[in-house]
Amino acid sequence: MRLVILGPPGSGKGTQAAMLVDELGVPHISTGSLLRNAAKRGTELGLKAKAITDKGELVPDDIMSDMIEERLSREDVANGFILDGYPRTVTQAKSLDVMLERLHKPVQEAIHIDVDPELIIERIAKRALEEGRSDDAEETVRNRMRVYAEQTAPVADYYEDHGLLTRILGDGDIDEILQRILSVLKVNASSD
Ligand code: AMP
Repeated sequence: MRLVILGPPGSGKGTQAAMLVDELGVPHISTGSLLRNAAKRGTELGLKAKAITDKGELVPDDIMSDMIEERLSREDVANGFILDGYPRTVTQAKSLDVMLERLHKPVQEAIHIDVDPELIIERIAKRALEEGRSDDAEETVRNRMRVYAEQTAPVADYYEDHGLLTRILGDGDIDEILQRILSVLKVNASSD
């Protein structure tokens, strides 16, 4: 299964992607986590990226493409992956397509988690307390939502144009949302 999970900040895509690992048996690849780990290790790239993510902006496409290409070249993705946080721009979506075409392993499904913006602010405020993410400050969250609307929402349209997108509702408890995703994957797989 080669799956892309899309959704605005705080839509729960990271939580769902992590839960899908057990269900699908493929790794969860979160570019946000890769960037946070690089920052924690204090690498040059990590520190440069932290200055950008702390403002709620996007890390440049060429840096992200190199990062995802390296990650997708590892052995554990032989049977697929769950991508969370990548692609975040149409340019990234196109370069991912080129990368995966070369491997004859195109994206099979894209799922967009729809959530009410009010709910997002509430969830992120909670996460800020629990995880202490430096980009969860309210001003940064507002910028991330703006960046999402301008640069990432078109990625959902891109997958829709390619007949790969399903939108699901992101309200309710996390198990309910997981079941929605699993039923989409089952239905779509049986119609392939
Ligand atoms: P996330 O954990 O997915 O919410 O990502 C946290 C932050 O990392 C984002 O707000 C961006 O600043 C940065 N980031 C993560 N993935 C990407 C990406 N694919 N392209 C650009 N920036 C990214």
